[in-house]
Amino acid sequence: MVEEQIAGRGVKDPRILDAMRKIPRHLFVHNSLKDKAYGDHPLPIGEGQTISQPYIVALMTEALKLNSSDRVLEIGTGSGYQAAVLAEIVKEVYTVEIRDSLRETADKMLDGLGYKNIKTKYGDGYDGWEQYAPFNAIIITASANHIPPPLIKQLKEGGRLIIPLGSTLYYQTLTLVTKKNNELDVEQMGGVAFVPMIGEAKRK
Ligand code: SAH
Repeated sequence: MVEEQIAGRGVKDPRILDAMRKIPRHLFVHNSLKDKAYGDHPLPIGEGQTISQPYIVALMTEALKLNSSDRVLEIGTGSGYQAAVLAEIVKEVYTVEIRDSLRETADKMLDGLGYKNIKTKYGDGYDGWEQYAPFNAIIITASANHIPPPLIKQLKEGGRLIIPLGSTLYYQTLTLVTKKNNELDVEQMGGVAFVPMIGEAKRK
């Protein structure tokens, strides 16, 4: 998986490659999908949600240019796989999930694997996680047609945020935002297909 799909497509950061070699991805999907867990595609994780394609996990993680001392916020815990990748690289990971059954399963899995630096929370990620803000980086793993303003607020000066931005259900633009002097520097990274953010993001 790592050689062909990730390093082979240009992801270089050894911390990401090592993390993805180490983490047992098959434990983050249902038993019946275990033999497909390392394939070049997303997979269903229940409740109509998906674990992202391995390459997209790597690409988004690399774009955040993380440091080992960073505190990172993830919106959309899903299976917990992306949180595990982040936790191998940074000091603290905070992850918010709006479907409590997914949060619970992910939390148990991450706990069982021994991750002490990941905190999960049930709630609408639109509001971020004020208690632990500000964050060096924020990763949103569900799509929205705008960046939730509370997330921009909770991003540190100089920090990076990545989000699949777009108004359609099937196609969005992976968008990287850097907060500079309280302005946003925006870079588009190409097309992706994520499940939509629900809750407040959908109402606005
Ligand atoms: N990062 C995950 C994949 C996420 S799939 C992984 O590694 O497996 C997108 C997730 O976002 C779903 O689990 C979905 O329930 C969640 N989600 C959707 N809207 C949300 C919101 N408003 N706040 C938090 N989570 C949300």
